[in-house]
Amino acid sequence: MKNFDLIQANQPADAVKLVSATPATRFIAGGTNLVDLMKYGVESPDILVDISRLPLDNIEKTATGLRIGALARNSDVAANKLVIDRFPLLSQALLAGASPQLRNMATMGGNLMQRTRCYYFYDTSTPCNKRNPNTNPGPNGCGALGGFNRLHAILGASDSCIATNPSDMNVALSALDAVVQIQGVNGNRSVPLIDFHRLPGNTPQRDNVLEPNELIVAIDLPTSRLVGKSHYQKVRDRASYAFSLVSVAARMTVENGTIQHVRIALGGVAHKPWRMPDVENQLVGKPAIESTFREAARQLLAGAEPHQYNSFKIKLAENTIVRTLQTVV
Ligand code: SF4
Repeated sequence: MKNFDLIQANQPADAVKLVSATPATRFIAGGTNLVDLMKYGVESPDILVDISRLPLDNIEKTATGLRIGALARNSDVAANKLVIDRFPLLSQALLAGASPQLRNMATMGGNLMQRTRCYYFYDTSTPCNKRNPNTNPGPNGCGALGGFNRLHAILGASDSCIATNPSDMNVALSALDAVVQIQGVNGNRSVPLIDFHRLPGNTPQRDNVLEPNELIVAIDLPTSRLVGKSHYQKVRDRASYAFSLVSVAARMTVENGTIQHVRIALGGVAHKPWRMPDVENQLVGKPAIESTFREAARQLLAGAEPHQYNSFKIKLAENTIVRTLQTVV
């Protein structure tokens, strides 16, 4: 690992200024992903700005719902009574992710920024457009396209990158209509979670819309008038400590057998949590029965383009969507 300087930040504004001052500077909090990236040589910052002592770990009620500080630990959020009572989907997804030791260190902001687990991204002897965007753009720059791509995307991928977002939490936050609060050198802004992560296109090095001089300070969860029931279903190769092959976060309100409100987000299938609001809107007013759910699943997966080793994900995703919605009714 390359030597680096470590600077302690005491306030968010100081942290943002420090990271803006030198290009090869990164924030570090729990370090559960960044330290691995540094050990593998994928990231080699000159300076790390330690944000772990910033006062950003509160979980508090707001007029519109709940605000979770970016530095709240995943384990604390999963066990928080307000979260369990009002947004159990988030608690369920957090507990499905990583190991207890990692959840004790990982922060909410860090989980939002978690990078793909594509094997080729971490193996610096192989081509990767996300790791080295300017060396060999296009299909020849992606080791996974002609390689072992079992974990990779079936939706929204490009000729440059077929990586998936590895986070369980992000899938739940997408279904919960979460909003990311950001502080930058030029002011603050709010970005809906559904717009925070990006599809790869021809710039796969950018996982999300955060600028280098911006810091995530909180995540807002709006309380819906139609709270309904929710469920997070994760399908993986092992029962614990494994990334999802496919996951589904769903919440739905049903009255007299008719769908009133629904959100469906898919994980493990794209570069970002996959949602299609048009499909959700078309479900409103329909009977909450298996045939309705299967038709919605097929619409959500209509654009799927599998690769050599992951065509199984299409049927797996369809069945997981149906089972998750049946659980929620
Ligand atoms: Fe890199 Fe993306 Fe290809 Fe993986 S899928 S090797 S992250 S360009």
